[in-house]
Amino acid sequence: MSTVTGTERDVVDAVPTGLWIGGTSVPGSRGTLAVDDPSTGEVLAEVGDATADDARSALDAAVASRAQWARTAPRERGEILRRAFDLMVERADDLALLMTLEMGKPLADARAEVTYAADFLRWFSEESVRIAGRWSVAPDGASRLLTMKQPVGPTLMITPWNFPLAMGTRKIGPAIAAGCTMVVKPAAQTPLSMYALAALLQEAGLPDGVLNVVTTSRSGEVMEPLIRDPRLRKLTFTGSTGVGRRLVEQSATQLLRVSMELGGNAPFLVLADADLDAAVDGAMVAKMRNMGEACTAANRFLVHSSVAADFARRLADRMSGLKVGRGTEKGVQVGPLIDEPSRDKVSELVQDAVDHGATVLTGGRTVAGPGRFYEPTVLADVAPESACLREEIFGPVAPVTPFDTVEQAIAMANDTEYGLVAYAYTRDLSSALRLSEELDTGMVGINRGVVSNASAPFGGVKHSGFGREGGVEGIEEYLETKYVGIDA
Ligand code: NAP
Repeated sequence: MSTVTGTERDVVDAVPTGLWIGGTSVPGSRGTLAVDDPSTGEVLAEVGDATADDARSALDAAVASRAQWARTAPRERGEILRRAFDLMVERADDLALLMTLEMGKPLADARAEVTYAADFLRWFSEESVRIAGRWSVAPDGASRLLTMKQPVGPTLMITPWNFPLAMGTRKIGPAIAAGCTMVVKPAAQTPLSMYALAALLQEAGLPDGVLNVVTTSRSGEVMEPLIRDPRLRKLTFTGSTGVGRRLVEQSATQLLRVSMELGGNAPFLVLADADLDAAVDGAMVAKMRNMGEACTAANRFLVHSSVAADFARRLADRMSGLKVGRGTEKGVQVGPLIDEPSRDKVSELVQDAVDHGATVLTGGRTVAGPGRFYEPTVLADVAPESACLREEIFGPVAPVTPFDTVEQAIAMANDTEYGLVAYAYTRDLSSALRLSEELDTGMVGINRGVVSNASAPFGGVKHSGFGREGGVEGIEEYLETKYVGIDA
């Protein structure tokens, strides 16, 4: 029997589920692919399954609308984004429910993501009218130098399942503001939020063809020809480092502008002088936002040996009190993991840590189905060679490892190929500044467990990628600089 309620069904049924090409929902040439509810395994909807030809049609639409859209007044582009922001806020409850159904996160988390996603539309509606250039006199006085910004052109955006809406608006917002047209390919597991967003943007006045969305069960086969198509000018990707690396290689054919938001292995440092209550609060957010399925999720808790046992015990108390269940149920704080392989990986990482001598303070087991649930888990005394300290856990597991000196903590924190974000708790200003400077990441949270903010530049270094999303930097990813030399 179906567990989907009438309201849930209405929200799903309101979404256009065909490919979104030229402002119209059209069937996929390969038929459809199923989208399920990860808390029950039940199929929620069937969406269009694109072939490479369908994807080319989507790029055709983006190319056809390129010139007209680039000429549209910045204020008009900004006002479309602002209307989309207003619509998203107005429909936040429905969008949150849709996201919970396809992705599993609890309603409160989904609601927070809708707010975060909408914020990119508002921020870039404001940035659209601040695209400026420069005018100067050449040093020898012989000519004038005009520097202008122009839209990059047709852009391919590939997004992951963990933040189905925000990973879209973080790219779509600045692209619309800059005057670019686009093809978006959301993850096959969570396409409904993106199709809902496409329809919402049309309602807000976005001209047909500026934004096109395709879903496919064969992302590699369908995306590669687009990436190698000479009409494409930019590729922006959020997802795993392995796939990102492959896409960078493909992008070399057309020497595309490329932005990569990839995996993380965030250290969460607690110094001896930290406010432990605040550190535990921050740890709960940094670890449990999105059930740990976030690139920014704290992956390694490095805690001074004088407070490590106390911190781990307090964290375990808080984690053991969390309610696990279907994200739509009242009071649920931890939803299911996205699929069976993801849950198996979490189980294996916990077992490996235990095999290397870690103690399970709470959790450590899967929860009986039908969904793909895993207990919130805290592991103490995790040995440095444990796999969970090297790989993205992407689940509700917090490994705690003690350290003795700040030098040692910094060395441990930087001992990873990733460099997205680091968190640090200390009451000492010098330590805070030193950590901000010496942690090898694109972002640092000092005495806070979340850094995501539409008005700040989000992004990583090392194998976490390059490019920034949000902030005044975010729009630069979609702009080219042209210089005009003028004799006068
Ligand atoms: P993923 O497997 O790399 O997939 C990401 C996207 O790429 C999906 O749309 C996927 O489509 C598509 N894709 C997969 N293989 C492809 C290929 N060969 N060619 C073209 N597209 C391809 O990552 P994920 O499991 O969805 O997301 C989790 C990862 O994203 C984690 O590593 C996380 O850290 C990272 N992430 C990073 C950020 C950041 O801002 N740095 C933010 C969120 C997530 P299908 O799934 O439909 O195949």
